[in-house]
Amino acid sequence: MADSSSGAPAIMWFRRDLRLHDNPALLAASDAASGDGVLPLFIWDDALWNPAGPARRAWMCESLRKLDESLNGHLVVRRGKPADVLTDLARETGATSVHIAEDFAPYGMKRDEHVRNTLAEDEVTLEATGSPYAIDPGTILTKQGTGYQVYSPFGRAWAQHGYEDAFPRIGTRQTWLEVDSEDFPTCDDVPPELDLDEVGEEAARRRWRDFLDRLEGYDDDRDRMDRNGTSGLSPHLRWGEIHPRTLLTDLKGMHGKHAASFRSEIGWREFYADVMWREPRVVRESWRTEFERMEWDDPGEKVQAWKEGRTGFPMVDAGMRELLATGTMHNRVRMLCASFLVKDLHVDWRVGAKFFYDHLVDGDLSSNFMNWQWAAGSGTDAQPFFRIFNPDTQGEKYDPDEVYRRRWIPEYGTDDYPEPILDHKAERQEALDRLSAMKDG
Ligand code: FAD
Repeated sequence: MADSSSGAPAIMWFRRDLRLHDNPALLAASDAASGDGVLPLFIWDDALWNPAGPARRAWMCESLRKLDESLNGHLVVRRGKPADVLTDLARETGATSVHIAEDFAPYGMKRDEHVRNTLAEDEVTLEATGSPYAIDPGTILTKQGTGYQVYSPFGRAWAQHGYEDAFPRIGTRQTWLEVDSEDFPTCDDVPPELDLDEVGEEAARRRWRDFLDRLEGYDDDRDRMDRNGTSGLSPHLRWGEIHPRTLLTDLKGMHGKHAASFRSEIGWREFYADVMWREPRVVRESWRTEFERMEWDDPGEKVQAWKEGRTGFPMVDAGMRELLATGTMHNRVRMLCASFLVKDLHVDWRVGAKFFYDHLVDGDLSSNFMNWQWAAGSGTDAQPFFRIFNPDTQGEKYDPDEVYRRRWIPEYGTDDYPEPILDHKAERQEALDRLSAMKDG
């Protein structure tokens, strides 16, 4: 990394990068400060905190606590508007640079531009190094210089592009500035089965090591919700407790189908971030504009049953109950529950996307909203119209011994379990009719 030493303290503004390993922005702050010390800061920003659901808040609170432990109690939390907090702290400490990992989401980009301009008035620089992605959104281009609109060619170009190797952990001799912190945010409303021991950088790295021992089954088991087949890393990636570059570096030289399949999933995360960066409207509008003509039903009692996991379709109910209990849900069940809301209940994908976003610990704008659009058929997908998941056959295929269903529905198979709230075959036809009507304009 280039020597950018300024001979003055530097501020490391942590956001979605709550880790000490492989954190180039933190290394840049250390370089800039030279021997003068780094202030590790988290800004408790109401613009992000207020709309966050309890699951995301709970994860964040715990992750901050763990980061503070790793920093031997030096993490400073300040509540307020980022530009005000940073201006005050730069004046208080004499820092001349603030270091961040670049944010590519709509709010973050606007916020950072405002912060950069405000700090410049005091001759303090905002310096972005790295981002939450192995390859920044906007980097992978077609031969015509445009962004990709479908995953497969993006995935190929992304894999060929290459990425930097993981950076080392910040040195243990790093000097941290001694600045008073305000109280850390606290969260009482924790999803009942969310294990807080599984939050934080150390847990993320442990989980990754454990998954590497299981990698050899990944491609066969990743759709099986009755098996521990996937990595479980999504909330850690969401909060930057581990970086995708760390994972990809460890996978270098592994060529089998399992490593390839896992790499490709990381690619999906980066693809959706790229799409959202190009078209921020995708979190509000259908990517395929003809879907704005789609006829949706108003959410009513049946949607309430969907939210509470009592539709009488066991796979859907198991998934929704897993979400409420843990703040997460197996990927294949997410697809099924999303398909059920949009194609069986005929409810606008945005209703479901908001509900998921409010309840997921890994709730991530681009991954959540673009996957919902995938399920609705309104997104970046070659063949959207005919994909309608059948809840029963999904169960037979991916939970053949009913392990997952029994795990999440204690009354499964008894008279206490509700009757199906609809006829899947009839609603499937209704969905196809509505899609055809929309298509014909
Ligand atoms: P693994 O199979 O171990 O995959 C490794 C990593 O690849 C994941 O941690 C994730 O970062 C990435 N990944 C895997 N599948 C996808 C995918 N389809 N799209 C984007 N990235 C992917 N993921 C989120 O991180 N946040 C969300 O808010 C989110 N919302 C979703 C909503 C719906 C309706 C659907 C169908 C999927 C959503 N996903 C979301 C994607 C996926 O379900 C989760 O990333 C996955 O369940 C995480 O489990 P894992 O870490 O064990 O995955």
